[in-house]
Amino acid sequence: SLSDRLGGVFDRLRGRGALTEADVRAAMREVRVALLEADVALPVARDFVEKATEQAIGQNVLRSVTPGQQVVKIVHDALIAMLGADESDLLLDVAPPAVVMMVGLQGSGKTTTTAKIAKRLSGRERKKVLMASLDVNRPNAQEQLATLGTQVEVATLPIIAGQQPVEIARRAMQAAKLQGFDVLMLDTAGRLHVDQALMDEMKAVADIARPQEILLVVDALTGQDAVNVAQNFSDQVPLTGVVLTRMDGDARGGAALSMRAVTGKPIKFAGTGEKLDALEAFHPERVAGRILGMGDVVSLVERAAESIQQEDAERMAMKMAKGQFDMNDLRGQLAQMRRMGGLGALAGMMPGMKKAQGALQQAGGDKILIHMDAMIGSMTVKERNKPELINAKRKIRIAKGSGTTVQDVNKLLKMHQEMSTAMKKIKKMGGIKGMMAMLG
Ligand code: GDP
Ligand code: MG
Repeated sequence: SLSDRLGGVFDRLRGRGALTEADVRAAMREVRVALLEADVALPVARDFVEKATEQAIGQNVLRSVTPGQQVVKIVHDALIAMLGADESDLLLDVAPPAVVMMVGLQGSGKTTTTAKIAKRLSGRERKKVLMASLDVNRPNAQEQLATLGTQVEVATLPIIAGQQPVEIARRAMQAAKLQGFDVLMLDTAGRLHVDQALMDEMKAVADIARPQEILLVVDALTGQDAVNVAQNFSDQVPLTGVVLTRMDGDARGGAALSMRAVTGKPIKFAGTGEKLDALEAFHPERVAGRILGMGDVVSLVERAAESIQQEDAERMAMKMAKGQFDMNDLRGQLAQMRRMGGLGALAGMMPGMKKAQGALQQAGGDKILIHMDAMIGSMTVKERNKPELINAKRKIRIAKGSGTTVQDVNKLLKMHQEMSTAMKKIKKMGGIKGMMAMLG
């Protein structure tokens, strides 16, 4: 697995301080291979590895896991972030009928997925659903949808021979409105390759039906080619999401990453078989695991990181218990935050940090950590020890010295204030141990 391969790269690194740039780059070459083997498109893999490299360089080596495992975890988290979580619901909360339009190449699974989604909406969500096939190219395409409709007990628009897609869409809209359907699903025609006639037809249909959701259906086994398909569709119609079909095959899920990167839209469902209930919400964790081919590495590293954060928090709290928290301490904390993976790692570290984290995220995310360091660097020794000395004039000087603004300095002072208040509270409760005891 990737984890084993990275073990080789990192063997000599265990127990040393930080992940060095050279080691991380060597590891990321392995990651890149793993991504390509999982069918992630080349440019997407390249971009992704670049970002993950930045994140990994300079991170502290955790004591109880190997650096290889740690890098897998970093890559895994970056994958999940990129795949996007919790966005798989269809947004159908409009005056009915809400329209869902399915687009994609021929054979990608549009018609099957149309019936699968209709089944889910009418069953689990008790919506009144109408399906209409706009596929006038493929012989019997409309009959195929009607048959599926019977199987899943969902209504289909009666077929009128000779009508063109735009006319059918208009008729479907009218029927859905008149007969009080909640959702109208439009199954469109595919092509073997993307062509302009197909795109124009889709745009004309979208103009009439004004869909809430336009879902691009992509075969997960398409591999590298999937990117071009997604790019083409994405350029021409306002997609709202992607459905990946044939995830039951030997696809390793790389297409998911490519789709997400190219369209910027969430993967809403995964098709996992020919049966009409073989439709699942998309699980980024599962796909990330599949792409990296790893077992329990992630939870192992999570536990290791947790225990170290706890140690750090205790050490810190001990210092705070003496009631001092000056700019030097804050600076140390900021440096530690950067080492531990930036703001994202912050919330779990210290009591009172959640609030500070929110404020920092709003103030510009991880960049602000560096700005803050510069601001503290521009303070005199006296100011660092006794921040309450910092008046309006001194603020201007500090801002100038650090290339920031007085507003930035104010934010820093406010954060320091909030943190020392939190520290004092901890002290009152008998330090972090007392706090734990109180919580039971
Ligand atoms: P369309 O041309 O895009 O409408 O594609 P269809 O819906 O007609 O599907 C083409 C074939 O793919 C059919 O035989 C489906 O049963 C099959 N299919 C669709 N989705 C899946 C899936 O998630 N897994 C598997 N194994 N087969 C699928
Ligand atoms: Mg079809």
